Amino acid sequence: MDINTVFIVGGGLMGGGIAQACAQSGLDVVLYDIDPAALTKAVKNIAWSVGKFVEKGELKEGKSIVMDRIKTVSDFSLAAACDLIIEAVFENLDLKREIFEKIDGLSRPDALMASNTSSIPITEIAVAAKNRQRVLGLHFFSPVPMMQAVEVIRGQSTSEETLLDGKRFVVRIGKEPIMVNRDVAGFVINRINFPSTMEAMRLVEQGVTTVEDIDKGLKLASGRKMGIFETGDMVGLDITYGALMSMYRETGDPRWFPPMILRRKVKSGELGRKTGKGWYEYDKDGRKKTQ
Ligand code: NAD
Repeated sequence: MDINTVFIVGGGLMGGGIAQACAQSGLDVVLYDIDPAALTKAVKNIAWSVGKFVEKGELKEGKSIVMDRIKTVSDFSLAAACDLIIEAVFENLDLKREIFEKIDGLSRPDALMASNTSSIPITEIAVAAKNRQRVLGLHFFSPVPMMQAVEVIRGQSTSEETLLDGKRFVVRIGKEPIMVNRDVAGFVINRINFPSTMEAMRLVEQGVTTVEDIDKGLKLASGRKMGIFETGDMVGLDITYGALMSMYRETGDPRWFPPMILRRKVKSGELGRKTGKGWYEYDKDGRKKTQ
């Protein structure tokens, strides 16, 4: 199946990034969010980022051509006409099920339905849809326009054809599919990354070292472009917390229980760049404040 039109539910960090990646690859995108302010912010961020690609000569087309492919909407009705629907709302199972029940009821029977969940097993979400064989996971990484990997996840009822269509879509938007053949919580990349992220948090919690020194050390010793805490602030501490909690609930394994320092920060609204404070502090334009 050729995918030419994509409906995205949730215009936050990930939904906006996915919209941009699709539009830059020539696809028509409909972006829906329950919060009109989120859509305004998404369009502003996408326009800025597309401008940067154009400036660097990394896009053949002009900014307005790419931006014209993105339409923002305040309801689900256009989902009925789209080839692929990608859900990117908050990491909350009940909310995701509610969205899947809705899109299952109005999308075409051959349309693909994907979740960008970081950690919830796809099968848990897909139970809300009757057309479960067309449900899969498409897990993008942040910042979406820069990160090449997309996990393509098979749920219990996902058909072979759906997986192939998902894989082709990822290639079509210029990214690399990482196939996840069993529906385990956290999939592959987060299962590998989270233990070191949690260990870094515990070292700070125990007063062994600082957020700044861990980030500096990891960049200088491991060749990372961003430190673990800088990445955490971009991703959102609530997102990491939600992902760990869903892995903990799914597996019952205490090693996934979020460290206290993360639980406390999330409780007090220190969610990273989006709230101006997380592991670091940010000014109103989202730039890191220097110490
Ligand atoms: P976000 O908080 O930036 O955006 C979520 C958006 O969903 C918000 O704009 C919100 O208004 C919207 N929303 C909430 N309820 C809605 C509804 N009923 N209908 C329509 N829109 C609704 O979150 P995000 O970082 O973009 O994460 C979205 C999903 O992607 C989560 O499942 C998360 O786990 C996953 N994810 C996040 C990252 C990351 O780095 N942040 C990486 C991979 C996957």
